[in-house]
Amino acid sequence: MATTYDTDLLTEIETIREIENADLVPLYAKRDVALVRGAGTTLWDSDGKEYLDCMSAYGVAILGHAHPAVTEAITRQAATLTTCHQSFYNDQRARYLKLLMSQAPEGITRAFFCNSGTESVEAALKFARAVTGRQHFVSTRKAYHGRTMGSLAVTGDNKYREAYAPMYGNVTHVPYGEPDSLAAVTDETAALILEPIQGEGGINPAPEGYLAAAREACDAHGALLIFDEVQTAFRTGALFAGPSVGVTPDIIAISKAIANGLPMGMTLMTEAVAGAVPPGTHGNTFGGNPMVCAAAHATLSTILDNDLFAHSKTVGAHFVAALKALNHPMIRDVRGRGLMIGVELKTRVTPVLRKLQEGGVLALPAGNLIIRFLPPLILTEAEADRAVAALGVALG
Ligand code: PMP
Repeated sequence: MATTYDTDLLTEIETIREIENADLVPLYAKRDVALVRGAGTTLWDSDGKEYLDCMSAYGVAILGHAHPAVTEAITRQAATLTTCHQSFYNDQRARYLKLLMSQAPEGITRAFFCNSGTESVEAALKFARAVTGRQHFVSTRKAYHGRTMGSLAVTGDNKYREAYAPMYGNVTHVPYGEPDSLAAVTDETAALILEPIQGEGGINPAPEGYLAAAREACDAHGALLIFDEVQTAFRTGALFAGPSVGVTPDIIAISKAIANGLPMGMTLMTEAVAGAVPPGTHGNTFGGNPMVCAAAHATLSTILDNDLFAHSKTVGAHFVAALKALNHPMIRDVRGRGLMIGVELKTRVTPVLRKLQEGGVLALPAGNLIIRFLPPLILTEAEADRAVAALGVALG
């Protein structure tokens, strides 16, 4: 039986750690601090130590922490109506849809609501099957699409999959970024799924022309093109990374940043796809609830009103230039777009990330060799400089 703790004691890292370690399935490599408070780009741990947040909880806190507009929206909605099933209409849902769809790429006209990235991908895969009547999927090596059985089957890295084999369905994994490998798309293919910039796989931007070649391969064979923008949405100096370089897919999966921390996922699609999904065959309980829709509306309207896509593009370019200017012998490559930045090292990242954390900067890995920066869009150039200086110190 679990011990009963006085919750007043939960200011101590020792107590917090003991409870989590005793009660949780041990799935995560834990960092030895408890984050208890945030404001903007700053986070505080239970000892009061301050950190510059360059990871946004894996790309979620796109406006930083406790943003006043989002806090106001959540607080107001919490006191009004938090939950409302989609069998009823709702004002907050309609208000957010109107804003998001007014910004969506041309041809993307319909949306499905869920609660996470993997669910947004899962819906995309299901819809692709229902619409095409085909079963085969093409995905890429090193792709990350989520952990439910469908999303896992199209995820590229075996380390996520082997414990849960056999994988669901018929999937061909091809090398990312190589147009020739798109020959795997055939008349049997339901969809090709791609991240416009691979995130977990190492911050690998699609080479020029690759996404257009993907569009062509799908069109030639009547297959659908799915962009998984769960990590890239709102982060690359534009609403979505694929359409911002001129390629519009049939389906776009988004999540992470869209409600600045409240759990939300969406699958966006063309009229043709939406019209062919059989009514009543998919859904979920929490999707599109008024609370997350209010937060999502506050998030997107704040980004648009403050031109944060342009700001993040400028700060991102400054960040990348400063990383390159470090000219550190342990850095092999710096790449990314907007505020989705990867630094490939010649050494393993874990000790470097630990030193960065000791130096008051939080970043995350993307594989064994790549340090990933996913800061909030409100990051300033001075803060980017601080992160780069701390990386210089951490690298020694
Ligand atoms: N797709 C991509 C591109 C992702 O980066 C992630 C999360 N890292 C997912 C899907 C899965 O999202 P979630 O963890 O919310 O299920």
